[in-house]
Amino acid sequence: KNYTKDEIRKIAQDENVQFLRLMFTDISGVIKNVEVPVDQLDKVLDNKVMFDGSSIDGFVRIEESDMYLYPDLNTWMIFPWGSEHGKVARLICRIYNTDGTPFSGDPRNNLIRVLDEMRAAGYTDFNIGPEPEFFLFKLDDKGEPTLQLNDKGSYFDFAPVDLGENCRRDIVLELENMGFEVEASHHEVAPGQHEIDFKYADALAAADDIQTFKLVVKIVARKHGLHATFMPKPLDGINGSGMHMNMSLFHDKGNAFCDNKGEMQLSTEAYYFLAGLLNHARGLTAIANPTVNSYKRLVPGFEAPVYVAWSGKNRSPLVRIPAARGLSTRLELRSVDPTANPYLVIAAMLEAGLDGVRNKIEPRPAVDRNIYRMDEDELKANHITDLPSTLHNALKDLQKDDVLRASLGTHLYQSFMESKRLEWASYRQVVSQWERDQYLELY
Ligand code: GLN
Ligand code: MG
Ligand code: MG
Ligand code: MG
Repeated sequence: KNYTKDEIRKIAQDENVQFLRLMFTDISGVIKNVEVPVDQLDKVLDNKVMFDGSSIDGFVRIEESDMYLYPDLNTWMIFPWGSEHGKVARLICRIYNTDGTPFSGDPRNNLIRVLDEMRAAGYTDFNIGPEPEFFLFKLDDKGEPTLQLNDKGSYFDFAPVDLGENCRRDIVLELENMGFEVEASHHEVAPGQHEIDFKYADALAAADDIQTFKLVVKIVARKHGLHATFMPKPLDGINGSGMHMNMSLFHDKGNAFCDNKGEMQLSTEAYYFLAGLLNHARGLTAIANPTVNSYKRLVPGFEAPVYVAWSGKNRSPLVRIPAARGLSTRLELRSVDPTANPYLVIAAMLEAGLDGVRNKIEPRPAVDRNIYRMDEDELKANHITDLPSTLHNALKDLQKDDVLRASLGTHLYQSFMESKRLEWASYRQVVSQWERDQYLELY
């Protein structure tokens, strides 16, 4: 929807909105917000609200900490859950410097920049359909999350096995109240695990939607006495949570990936884009799987990708081409997990793909066989490499990838690397129970 300032003023009054949440996303993909009372609305709409950027991860140094919040009026939304003090509305904001220029450390600004470049290259839209998965854990008496799952259900199970059903249904209803078009929602393979897919949108709206989605899931779960987590691998031995990304590129004649006369009804651009994703897959992993825990998911045996390969048939490779054609022709990247900052990962996927298009890179051949049954020689003969196995290795690949570095821009690249290296440095110092179990008595 396109709102004018006057429309927003009128709705705020008619609906008795009392508080405004000005939202933005930090480098780690965490939503932040500044809440102001509704009497500040004019100031908000005139881009006059300031905040201290030095307290936000990956933003600015102390001496240049004043930042402005410029609301994107199209993101105006009243939260369906009320408070005793009246309704709460939100606006997603861009962050600006005091001199009136967009702040380049804002992941959302960066995505807007990358999308502008895409338009300059002759495309109209980059559409994204995400498939986020999450777990529901029980809360204890103190309201703290436990590791107890709330059901024993599995893929497409029905109640009463699926006690998460009611909670998931409530989440879907709440999302629909907020204008989401939910396309599918189902129990996932693991107990306590769920997936909700919403309709694709252009890249910026999709990234905003993902952030709103995570917020809604957590809030509704809490009302059911549950903790929703998007941590990629909360429990070992069962599937982890991914966030598959379906993507398509549009030009003014429609879906640029579709060509009825092409091989598999795909255009040459689709193949080039695919090749770009595959060529940059290793560095992209750092952005798509940005936590230490992400790499506990990318292991064989749990439907998560481990190798760089694509297929039009096989469901388990890194990139899959779903059967739908025409407007719905798309590539599905299956490595991404829900800890990825959606603004960063979408910008990186787009630049990786466009690099393939610009340089007319031919993709390696499709692999329709089970990669996990191949030995080293077969993997090599089929040009199959693996994905990085740790955050540390992924960061090293990102460092070597100029296209992906450019997709983040200097500021974001540097703060991303800095915060992720610290994360790795902190992790590697910890001795785990697994190690004690393995070595304490043996040696
Ligand atoms: N949970 C799996 C993953 O980690 C995906 C399962 C599926 O959607 N087929 O990506
Ligand atoms: Mg799915
Ligand atoms: Mg799934
Ligand atoms: Mg999928």
